[in-house]
Amino acid sequence: MSIKVSNLTYTYMKGTPFEKIALDNINLSIETGEFVGIIGHTGSGKSTLVQHFNGLLKPTSGSVYINGEELAGKKASKLKSQVGIVFQYPEHQLFEETVYKDIAFGLIKRGEETDEIDRKVRKTVSMMGLSEDILSKSPFELSGGQKRRVAMAGILALEPSTLVLDEPAAGLDPAGRDEIFELISSLHKNNKMTVILVSHSMEDVAKFVQRVVVMNKGRIEMCGSVRSVFNKIDELERIGLAAPQITYLMKRLKKKIPELNDNILTVAEA
Ligand code: ADP
Repeated sequence: MSIKVSNLTYTYMKGTPFEKIALDNINLSIETGEFVGIIGHTGSGKSTLVQHFNGLLKPTSGSVYINGEELAGKKASKLKSQVGIVFQYPEHQLFEETVYKDIAFGLIKRGEETDEIDRKVRKTVSMMGLSEDILSKSPFELSGGQKRRVAMAGILALEPSTLVLDEPAAGLDPAGRDEIFELISSLHKNNKMTVILVSHSMEDVAKFVQRVVVMNKGRIEMCGSVRSVFNKIDELERIGLAAPQITYLMKRLKKKIPELNDNILTVAEA
């Protein structure tokens, strides 16, 4: 599923003394099946941007298109249902007595048949690398990592063709972080989903995504392959997104071999 954002501006509390321009003329296209990272500091506009992808927020000006159709008017609700957003700490939304009921919640709300609900709940649990005996447990008995997977399963059970994850590894230990990123990568590879990963950490996403969108102060500062964005180390440093160790090594390398400036990553890898 493709997403296109055209001249998108969003202002919180417009017309009040607290007015805040959170997005300033954003243009972005995400193609079907892509795995894209949206990186930027807290407050750079990442969450505001992704909430436009399923119509949770409506542009102050500009437009959002899903598969070429504008996310507005009569078709909006059908288009919206194709984009699943997993917000930060999604496990805070778990509330049912059993994991089964929690995962099934959205499907029941949608009025789906019991058999279909059962099939989708079991399929999603397996996609998330969980065993079926978890279904009868209370979500509150689970570990942090399991809770997060159950919360993600609740979104995936709705079978969106695009999955947006806002800081999916926040608060997990290093092993839990790796697990969750591996799972997300496999959703992209095995289920051919379009995946959009939102993070404040360049390193987290660089390992997994195909393309990086760097946001700063409500604008897109850079956009391109991981390699091309890392090559602009001075830019990344200016907006405070480069890890100090990497910056140090890259700068030393650049000084020593200035003619290799544009291919610094190739050299670093060798
Ligand atoms: P990020 O996801 O990159 O941390 P956000 O999209 O949450 O950034 O925020 C972008 C800007 O909009 C920030 O300056 C933030 O303070 C402001 N903002 C976010 N949500 C609200 C809100 N509900 N009301 C007012 N301002 C907000």
